Amino acid sequence: MEPSVLAAIFSGAEAPFRYERLSRPTLGSGEALVAITLTTLCGSDLHTYRGRRRGPTPLVLGHEAIGRVIAVGSGMNASWVDQRITWTLTDSCGLCEACTRWNLPQKCERLFKYGHGGLSEGSGLNGCYATHLVLRSGTHLVPVPDSLTDAMVAPANCALATMIAVIEALPTCGERVVIQGAGLLGLYGCALLKTAGWKQVFVVDRQPARLLAVPRFGGIPILSTAHDAIRANSADVVIEVSGSASVVEDGLRWIRPGGHYAIAGLVHPDSALQITGETLIRKCLTLRGTHNYQPRHLEAAIAFLSLHRETFPWETLVSPPMPLQQLEEAFALAESGRWARVAIDPGLISDCSRNVTALDSAI
Ligand SMILES: [Zn+2]
Ligand SMILES: [Zn+2]
Repeated sequence: MEPSVLAAIFSGAEAPFRYERLSRPTLGSGEALVAITLTTLCGSDLHTYRGRRRGPTPLVLGHEAIGRVIAVGSGMNASWVDQRITWTLTDSCGLCEACTRWNLPQKCERLFKYGHGGLSEGSGLNGCYATHLVLRSGTHLVPVPDSLTDAMVAPANCALATMIAVIEALPTCGERVVIQGAGLLGLYGCALLKTAGWKQVFVVDRQPARLLAVPRFGGIPILSTAHDAIRANSADVVIEVSGSASVVEDGLRWIRPGGHYAIAGLVHPDSALQITGETLIRKCLTLRGTHNYQPRHLEAAIAFLSLHRETFPWETLVSPPMPLQQLEEAFALAESGRWARVAIDPGLISDCSRNVTALDSAI
């Protein structure tokens, strides 16, 4: 039997996913074939699914995942085979100015992002909503210790590593920080800042249900309508991870003179900021944007989870796994906000009546 892989093909906003069997790819130099064991639905994929963000179609979406290496191409050390790994969501050349002098490989001239490449690029297995993914030669692989479960690790290569990059750029530890947005980035931010010694970590959100998890990750929940809960000029740092430009006005009021405002959630065009140059100058503010991360931030994410495996209830963030063939149901569940992340296990056999036969047991 010709071994095959199963992929969920996305062809445009709100079109149903098409489940397609593809043949096992031939690996190029430095490439690795990974069997995905768990993948989670990132908020950016919800934007693509609803047509708020555009990309090449058709494609395999999905970039947050954990998996096991099952084959490597020439030039890759064979010891990677059978390793349980996560990987950077960007693939970069290591040679261009962004990769070398700027130290921003996520802005590489020849950048490739998993879950964003069309079906016609390379093997086509460029996203994580599939049984298998081909990792390219400029991708940084990080082994995952057995002590961490798939649910703990799956969102690390997007949300956690990004939050580590955001927090690394802050000035040295202060007293009081306000996080705007109680999604996964905000909850990871709580855990990272509390363990780094910040005394008070406020998390502001407009949805009471999203604030419920905040105390479990060391933060103080604040409903955004409770305007007086945070004093003007009281926060050393404000971190925006809400995705809404309208929150910036509050943040500018709360931040103290000399403070640092980190913007990381506004990755879409509807993000014009209400800020004057005068405010920036008179408050002596640092305003800083962070997009994606470098390989060392993913290394730090796995080390952080290992160190704090039992400090925080990581697994409560992720839904029980659903089969790949129920991707549309998974997107609906993700939009309900019931879970910080909804998980897909491509190895699960769906009991729904779609025309997909049982998965091959091995490829
Ligand atoms: Zn993401
Ligand atoms: Zn480069």
